[in-house]
Amino acid sequence: MNGIFYIETYGCQMNKYDSELMAGLLASKGYGQAFDMEKADIVLINACTVRDHAEQRVFGRLGELKRFKDNNPNLIVGLCGCMAQRLGTEIFHRAPHVDLIVGPDMYRRLPELIQRLNGRPTCDVTPNTRETYTNITPERGTRLKAWVAIMRGCDNDCSYCIVPSVRGPARSRPLSDISHEVNRLVREGCRDVTLLGQNVNAYRHDGIGFGGVLRRLNMVDGNFRMRFTTSHPKDMSREIIDAIAEGGHICEHIHLPLQSGSTRILKAMRRHYTAEEYVNVVRAIREAIPGVSISTDVIVGFPGETERDYEATVSMVESIKFDSAFTFRYSPRPNTDATRLDDNVPEAEKGARLEHLISVQRTITDQKNKELVGQEVEVLVEGESRKGGGQLMGRTRTDKTVVFEGDLKLVGTCIPIRIDRAKGWTLWGKRIETTTSFS
Ligand code: SF4
Repeated sequence: MNGIFYIETYGCQMNKYDSELMAGLLASKGYGQAFDMEKADIVLINACTVRDHAEQRVFGRLGELKRFKDNNPNLIVGLCGCMAQRLGTEIFHRAPHVDLIVGPDMYRRLPELIQRLNGRPTCDVTPNTRETYTNITPERGTRLKAWVAIMRGCDNDCSYCIVPSVRGPARSRPLSDISHEVNRLVREGCRDVTLLGQNVNAYRHDGIGFGGVLRRLNMVDGNFRMRFTTSHPKDMSREIIDAIAEGGHICEHIHLPLQSGSTRILKAMRRHYTAEEYVNVVRAIREAIPGVSISTDVIVGFPGETERDYEATVSMVESIKFDSAFTFRYSPRPNTDATRLDDNVPEAEKGARLEHLISVQRTITDQKNKELVGQEVEVLVEGESRKGGGQLMGRTRTDKTVVFEGDLKLVGTCIPIRIDRAKGWTLWGKRIETTTSFS
């Protein structure tokens, strides 16, 4: 065996997917995987750069690793992911105990770079705008659920976003490869497939768009659910909405970042849609897909955001009534055009707006979930709930978490649950005993 690696992942699903990719690559070259850092010879930190806070957290972690390496000088410490791509060799100056730096387009070289280290710090953050890792099999932590990246990179130019500068332009995998991968996953027992892309509904390969991907994968035999993230409102075409409305494996949940309810701020963010256009997309989705759940992302405190702009965001959130929302305060990122704008919203005001918006959304989520009390929902059982004690958890097709009593042998099956309580993001219910289950 070439050595034992341990991967620690920070950031979005794409980074989590990439960690599975790296694990698959290393395993294919005779490396073993440890799930406890103490048992590893190689520690890889797959790090995020989307906000300054994310990077500071990783520098803190690298500090802890230094103490660990002081007691184990042969340990190889590597930094991967978007943070590695952004900072490159600068990392060696700030954390001299780091041996290896690898960018998101250079993971194929990981085994070779580790082999050739010989005590010489090595960095490869070469961009490869064609790389999609389409013939690499990720080493997934579980068989029940899987992320499948159908594309990498992003062609958009949102003024606040660092992703295009660290992940490069958009490139899509051939649909035949994606279909082959999903078929294999379902044959091997996968029950929940999430299609990944920074802007997943901008997928295009050989003239096939995202609607075509959904329709093709909806024909895959087997009992599984299909989800996708992250969509961009400007690319949510009629064809895609109609494909989702066909149901089947495709779940009735769409994550559709709004970012701001003010058209003036959306323009400064270069989101390429107006508040009104966003509302029209949501209306079209809800008309075509009954019972669909919609979640979103919102940034508060963007440069120039007045009280009036913020109120426009609040009233949009209140009128659309999202099922859930990820809310962030604006964080200036290097090499993004938004840094040329005057970051004039005081941090205290950003914090106040964020706190207020979180409470507005929490009330809405709670109300929407309370409307499900008394209803029967289909839940894919994922495992023990956090509290355990005979309680299991699973998710609905609309991506809601449900907790209920049950036996662990139900994991991987879809069962009917009657909801009897809801609080915040969580639903509680009782299993409906039937002769049939989706297993
Ligand atoms: S769509 Fe915009 S926010 Fe999303 S990854 Fe691309 S540039 Fe960033």
